[in-house]
Amino acid sequence: MKKALVCGAGGFIGGHMVARLKDEGYWVRGVDIKEHEFCTPLADDFVVGDLRDPQLVAKVVDEGMDEIYQFAADMGGAGYIFTGEHDAGVMHNSALCNLNVLDEAARKKVGKIFYSSSACIYPEDIQTDPNNPGLRESFAYPANPDSEYGWEKLFSERLYLAYQRNHGIQVRVARFHNIFGPQGTWCGGREKAPAAMCRKVAEAEDGGEIEMWGDGEQTRSFLYIDECIEGVRRLMESEVSDPINIGSDEMISINGLAQMVADVAGKKIGLHHIPGPLGVRGRNSENSMIHEKLQWSPSQPLRAGIEKTYAWIAEQVDATP
Ligand code: NAD
Repeated sequence: MKKALVCGAGGFIGGHMVARLKDEGYWVRGVDIKEHEFCTPLADDFVVGDLRDPQLVAKVVDEGMDEIYQFAADMGGAGYIFTGEHDAGVMHNSALCNLNVLDEAARKKVGKIFYSSSACIYPEDIQTDPNNPGLRESFAYPANPDSEYGWEKLFSERLYLAYQRNHGIQVRVARFHNIFGPQGTWCGGREKAPAAMCRKVAEAEDGGEIEMWGDGEQTRSFLYIDECIEGVRRLMESEVSDPINIGSDEMISINGLAQMVADVAGKKIGLHHIPGPLGVRGRNSENSMIHEKLQWSPSQPLRAGIEKTYAWIAEQVDATP
């Protein structure tokens, strides 16, 4: 039986990865600084602990484990990443998790380690046009990410690749492009655009109005959680150790996303544009590399994922007094 450690198992993507690995018959240990808010842990062993602490990391990484999935990070949506208020914590906390987990994994001769990087590593200056044709992996350099979150991700990508060169540990690195779905943060300030939009529409009356940061003409692509997990598992089974995009190439404006959510909810909703933290003007995933290397790329339409996510968030809103 294969043995895996999922770091950040109390979070959105980590929680889904634990479920997938259990389905595949793995023995799984999850670790997170907090319990999962939305599901009972399926892991064989779930440790509540802080990965910034090397002693805790030494306890959760076993000698010769087959795989580690490193999702733990101090992160959130635009309201968390782009205000500047959390920059020091985002860099310090996430870098410490990566430094500790990777070093212990190399020391204990873990078979393979996955690192969750982000589309936020791509240079700001090539994302000024809402009609972004797509970010190829090779566009990462010369580097100029638009946030400290992106700089930490880029540093950590390089850290994983350096450990692979110097310590022989196998690494797999994915650059996620806006992952969304049920059991993700949907309120409280760390939620990302799809979840925030679903919550606002669920809370609004038919014929009402919701607030949106900026003019809503900025574009993004969004990937449903099941396809993200499928991509990560395929990457782990492959020989690809260069960083690779895991994202959808179905680009949409934030106004378009709000409209789609309102359609799914069956409500007529007006948009009230207000100033707020935004990020780059246009971003899309470019999927030639994943298609070529893994003979697979995400293909589900955005609307299918929004339907499932809206249903789940509307339930959470209804259940909240
Ligand atoms: P999430 O916030 O739901 O999960 C991250 C988890 O890490 C949280 O449960 C948090 O408690 C845990 N954590 C943070 N600091 C910790 C510490 N010191 N010790 C132990 N646990 C700690 O986020 P997510 O959406 O599941 O993202 C997972 C990973 O994917 C992150 O590294 C994130 O940067 C990356 N990523 C996500 C997206 C996305 O759209 N969700 C996009 C790009 C990259």
